[in-house]
Amino acid sequence: MKKSILILLMTSALAWAGNYPLETCVVSGEKLGEMGKPYVFVYEGTEVKLCCEKCRAKFDKNPAKYLAKLATKPGN
Ligand SMILES: [Zn+2]
Repeated sequence: MKKSILILLMTSALAWAGNYPLETCVVSGEKLGEMGKPYVFVYEGTEVKLCCEKCRAKFDKNPAKYLAKLATKPGN
């Protein structure tokens, strides 16, 4: 019983990580993880990853602009 819950948690964690369409910060365009741990938050139900916490302030000034980048996957 305990084991199956653990597997379920691991599977959902993998799915969560695999769903993010971009490898770069939508604000700065920097590759995620290059400046340290990405800054991750959820904005109106959408997961957003930024290269650093400073980019959050810029995101908040114009969220629609940056969310649009997130919705447009490169190569689609
Ligand atoms: Zn940044």
